[in-house]
Amino acid sequence: MEWLSDEERYSAIEENMKFIRSEIAEAALKSGRDFNDIVLMAVTKTVESKFINHAINNGINFIGENKVQEFLSKESELNLVDCNAHLIGHLQSNKARKIVGKVETIQSVDSVSIAKEIGKRSTDIGFHTKILLEVNVGNEYSKFGFDYDEVYEKACEISEISGISIDGLMCVAPICEKETEIRSVFSNMHRLFIDIRDKKRDNINMNVLSMGMSADFKEAILEGANLVRIGSSIFGARVYR
Ligand SMILES: *Cc1c(COP(=O)(O)O)cnc(C)c1O
Repeated sequence: MEWLSDEERYSAIEENMKFIRSEIAEAALKSGRDFNDIVLMAVTKTVESKFINHAINNGINFIGENKVQEFLSKESELNLVDCNAHLIGHLQSNKARKIVGKVETIQSVDSVSIAKEIGKRSTDIGFHTKILLEVNVGNEYSKFGFDYDEVYEKACEISEISGISIDGLMCVAPICEKETEIRSVFSNMHRLFIDIRDKKRDNINMNVLSMGMSADFKEAILEGANLVRIGSSIFGARVYR
């Protein structure tokens, strides 16, 4: 949408959000849930603060950023009073100190060692960080995340770390040609989520199942996602400078 004026872009964001909300409502209904049970997270990578604030002013209360540096550079310009920020991209351990305390949740925890680092940095500043465990669901496409079969074991290990608590699971799904393929990826994630939840272990909460992006959020909701991460369908195609 780079060729649009700011005013045109503001109204495009509003239109896009209306459309996405109606699609979320439809998928929620189909899956027997309430629209309000599903969080629409706006993914803000490469988006300028004024457009992010416009989405927030139109009711977005969760934003996701991929990169620590990018988030920190925009943070002071963002209207985060009623909006939670999450980190959704891979976190390197040398950047943990910079992000801890600034975001409610780090969705992209993909190793025990990064969980320990987040825990340590959180404890240092007297902050509690929620984390999601990233699951690697399609090895060729998403290089980060725990293998499906090791998630519970690693969750148990991570649950002992102070300063953090596990709040759910996230995944970045592969690009699938067939709807049945993508649905089975999401349905396996949902099964894992339920299995872990049913084990009722201390410090492992399964509140958030973060899956689904612009291309596949409807399928994700149909299979049980309760947080969808939408970037380009809200803000337009990303322009990398
Ligand atoms: C960029 C990104 C999204 C949003 O992608 P769109 O296809 O633009 O909706 C969601 N999740 C993660 C982890 C991302 O990096």
